[in-house]
Amino acid sequence: MVRAGVLALRGAFAAHAEKFVALGADVVEVRRPEHLTDLDGLVLPGGESTTMSNLLVSSGLAHPLAEAIASGLAVFGTCAGMILLSTNILDGRDDQISFSAIDATVRRNAYGRQVDSFECDLSVTSLDSPFHAIFIRAPAIEELGSGVEVLASWNDAPVLIRSGRIMAASFHPELTADTRIHRLFLDLVESQLAVR
Ligand code: GLN
Repeated sequence: MVRAGVLALRGAFAAHAEKFVALGADVVEVRRPEHLTDLDGLVLPGGESTTMSNLLVSSGLAHPLAEAIASGLAVFGTCAGMILLSTNILDGRDDQISFSAIDATVRRNAYGRQVDSFECDLSVTSLDSPFHAIFIRAPAIEELGSGVEVLASWNDAPVLIRSGRIMAASFHPELTADTRIHRLFLDLVESQLAVR
């Protein structure tokens, strides 16, 4: 059984946990460094990336999590979680954490300035019908490194990306009943387990 962690410091973590339970994974709510032990994959949920950054430091998770990512943990960042994974953060706070796990430049609240929240149907690579996506004060992906694959775009901008064992979404795939994007992440985790 895959052990899927969900960073549970704050934000939309419970809905991610429900998705993994529905898909038959063993779920670990990650609040302290010892919770990182033996994880196969981890979700960094949405919320507020600057607050999550503060909580990562005060919980003592920032360093062990950076080490786990560097040593091969599969991670899926959604919204604020995507911001934490990206190499370059625009309109961020100077001291906010970036794990630099995916070669992407993201701009915080870029969709939020026009409308705080919106929904749309996305065509996603390998899914045979559209995925209904919910964006909440979402970050925009403005640039990508050459090794990053775009799995879905909206208005010509990438909104779901993957590089190796790292996935990131501008939107909140945990807020609809559809489990297919969590399934894609578990497939990625399982493919990593197979080569470990
Ligand atoms: N705007 C938030 C941030 O900058 C992200 C929003 C979200 O996760 N829904 O952290």
